[in-house]
Amino acid sequence: MAGLPRRGREVVANLHPQKATQSYPKGIVGRAGWHMADTACPVGRDTYRAALRGVDTALAAAGTVMGGERAAYALCRPAGHHADADTAAGHCFLNNSAIAAQALRARHERVAILDIDVHHGNGTQEIFYERPDVLTVSIHASPESFYPFYVGYAHETGRGAGEGFNLNIALPQGQGDEEWLAAIATALERVREFDPGALVLALGLDAHENDPLKGLSVTTECFGRAAALIAGAGLPTVMVQEGGYLSDDLTRNIHAFLGGWMDAA
Ligand SMILES: [Zn+2]
Repeated sequence: MAGLPRRGREVVANLHPQKATQSYPKGIVGRAGWHMADTACPVGRDTYRAALRGVDTALAAAGTVMGGERAAYALCRPAGHHADADTAAGHCFLNNSAIAAQALRARHERVAILDIDVHHGNGTQEIFYERPDVLTVSIHASPESFYPFYVGYAHETGRGAGEGFNLNIALPQGQGDEEWLAAIATALERVREFDPGALVLALGLDAHENDPLKGLSVTTECFGRAAALIAGAGLPTVMVQEGGYLSDDLTRNIHAFLGGWMDAA
């Protein structure tokens, strides 16, 4: 295992894999650890209110689509796809995409979630892992050496009634446009076969080549092509903003994506 560049002298784990379920403690310190999977989700005075506003935004978009609009974009902050039903993780507290999908279930028997953030949508996968009514598909940089590390592998396909309703497409780190578009095409094939009434698109923009985390190497122009592909599925779609770290390209990427969508839809 290679050492980290610019490392310090001590090893302090930044995240901890969830162990087999132990006992739920009474103390606040134990409970904080229980509900926070890593150190990237500090809770401050306004965190809960901010997370609720993120959920409100996703629900407003879901409502718009249930009202008959073909698509809506929810600019949610904080993002949500690393959070499961009772665990915050990776800058996520409440899972906006999962909550939007559950809201859409009021109208549609089957809903699909396609997550194109460069990180595996582990919280979303966990929430629906045993359910056959919500298909979860995630395209991401391989977790072998990339967050969330412990999940996001191809062998995770669902459990019990949910067996076969989770698809992980993990790409080697650094891959670019053609591999990413091919993965999206494969994902859309699975979505079509599932035949959902609506789609939630967990729209991370951090697969971009200049994203500081360097998971994949997708160009700005490719976000437009990806949008056209996904729009081509012809499904009512709720787009929920997930990751996308501060870089000068962030605005250009969302512009390329939404522009590509509008040209194609
Ligand atoms: Zn991400």
